[in-house]
Amino acid sequence: MSTYQAPLAEMQFVLNELAGIDSVGRLPGFEEATPDVVAAILEEAAKFATNVLDPINRSGDKEGAQWHEDGSVTTPAGFRDAYRQFCDNGWNGLTKNPDYGGQGLPRLLATAVEEMWHSSNLAFDLCPLLTQGAIEALELCGSAALKARFLPNMVAGTWTGTMNLTEPQAGSDLAAVRSRAVPQGDGTYRVFGQKIFITFGEHDYTENIIHLVLARTPDAPEGVKGISLFVVPKFLVNDDGSLGARNDVRCVSIEHKLGIHASPTAILAYGDNGGAVGYLVGNENHGLEYMFIMMNLARFSVGMEGVGIAERSYQRAVAYARDRVQGKAVGTGKGDPAGPIIGHPDIQRMLMTMRAYIEASRAVAYVTAAAIDHAHHEPDPAAKKRHQAFVDLMIPIVKGWSTEIAQEVTYLGVQVHGGMGFIEETGAAQYYRDARITTIYEGTTGIQANDLIGRKTARDGGNTARSVAAEIARVAAELAAHPDAHLRSIGKRLAAACADLNQAIDWVVGAFGTKPREAHAGAIAYLRLWGLTVGGWQLGRSALVAARHLHEGVGDARFLRAKIVTARYFAECLLPQANAWREALIEGGEAAVAMPVESF
Ligand SMILES: Cc1cc2nc3c(=O)[nH]c(=O)nc-3n(C[C@H](O)[C@H](O)[C@H](O)COP(=O)(O)OP(=O)(O)OC[C@H]3O[C@@H](n4cnc5c(N)ncnc54)[C@H](O)[C@@H]3O)c2cc1C
Repeated sequence: MSTYQAPLAEMQFVLNELAGIDSVGRLPGFEEATPDVVAAILEEAAKFATNVLDPINRSGDKEGAQWHEDGSVTTPAGFRDAYRQFCDNGWNGLTKNPDYGGQGLPRLLATAVEEMWHSSNLAFDLCPLLTQGAIEALELCGSAALKARFLPNMVAGTWTGTMNLTEPQAGSDLAAVRSRAVPQGDGTYRVFGQKIFITFGEHDYTENIIHLVLARTPDAPEGVKGISLFVVPKFLVNDDGSLGARNDVRCVSIEHKLGIHASPTAILAYGDNGGAVGYLVGNENHGLEYMFIMMNLARFSVGMEGVGIAERSYQRAVAYARDRVQGKAVGTGKGDPAGPIIGHPDIQRMLMTMRAYIEASRAVAYVTAAAIDHAHHEPDPAAKKRHQAFVDLMIPIVKGWSTEIAQEVTYLGVQVHGGMGFIEETGAAQYYRDARITTIYEGTTGIQANDLIGRKTARDGGNTARSVAAEIARVAAELAAHPDAHLRSIGKRLAAACADLNQAIDWVVGAFGTKPREAHAGAIAYLRLWGLTVGGWQLGRSALVAARHLHEGVGDARFLRAKIVTARYFAECLLPQANAWREALIEGGEAAVAMPVESF
């Protein structure tokens, strides 16, 4: 059985050489994120992931969360204790405001830490992840009184948070939200309605759960402009901070799912007994705006779920491929005995594909995390704005692309195992099942792709997109002029992908308003093209750094040579798909929507 080992050398390489953790550490407020602190935190997180979370991942999947007739929910053996240790060790408040007990560390560092939680136990980390989002929304949009009442316990993890958007008739389309919030004249509201699919909506970790709920006030306008955001605690909180009466919110059931079995996905009924007491966050009718703050963070984190679970699937596949003996590898000597399957070229191809996708998606996500830190902490408004524009463009790519390729990686993880991949005991199948949700929640890939063509590309006439493409072209040119032939090969292919991307941007900007159905039909192709090209960009940058370090004789030569091989594999075997995605986008949209609906 393989045990999760955090890829610390790789993480440090990406943090230092690609994402620029040193420049993040120089931003005001991040003075404590020195290289020593970063290294110590990564090492401690790695131990926690390996020793506490990984060992209960498989048992948690088998046992699953359990709902009981009284509306309570129990999590699988070991999860509650792991959560207590998680909070005691301060992991819950890593990036949170020190005013509320957090550690105020950079998102970039937290991203590497979060990857380890996702790799070792995705179901476990969903609770802290949703709590982080709820904290963020409250901190940015809540009143001083709400913050004082709820944030310290949420940052400490004593209370957890949830995100209540979805209703039976309102999934991707939140304009259809019907839950009601009736003002009581004393500043509070009574909330009524049903929410479905609420992650960790009920559990046995903590004494209280703080729900953030979207609902409509009686005079609210139709559509998304009439949605408000409310805090609805499971137990009311007295003025002295102690717990008061049970609020009118009940867990009526939990879902039976394909994966993430240890994570309870709750159906919550609000207001069956007179209405759940709720407190308005910010102003009425601005709820969706506030929720998007939470959702952007959550979307980024779900992208990281894709990276994390893909990494774990890869580690397990490599361990199995080293162990399983089957046949003689092509090209070995006549009298040689049968060897481990890792010697077969096709197994190597699968492992290379997994590795290249993981390294590319990790680098893209960490670079985006660094930009999030710059966007929040740069003193110069122009720099803030520039970084924020990059982040806005990248969020649907990190979410959409990393989770889509996690499907391919975990699929290959099963395939490397042969028949044993289909058998639950090896664990490969769990990653394949657990990964499946990541392209669905926090907005499906289709919704991310719509965001990418509309708000993120067409809205500013393609300006941000073109400026990123220009930077990619610059790196491609540097690679193409390199003395090393391998780097020149990467540069040639990256330049070709970048040319495809530029054509695609121009097409999307033109077609978005004039041929909206074709443009939307091609949106996924556009997202995949972006993912591949930014992935190739970051791996191209890795190859440049690795070549420089090898030339200067610094660092671990084997690690650095592996970086170049991986970047080459990505450029030569995966990046050529960029051309096909461009073609599908520009030429294929018409065929995609040509079939009359009744002919399906
Ligand atoms: C395990 C799990 C946990 C979840 N956790 C939470 C949670 O904590 N809180 C919460 O509020 N919700 C949660 N959800 C809900 C989740 O966010 C929704 O399932 C998701 O947003 C999709 O909505 P839907 O299921 O209604 O699908 P639908 O919106 O019905 O979508 C069905 C299909 O239609 C497509 N589609 C819909 N609209 C468009 C469009 N405009 N353009 C193109 N394609 C479109 C979708 O891409 C999809 O393929 C969770 C769901 C699951 C399964």
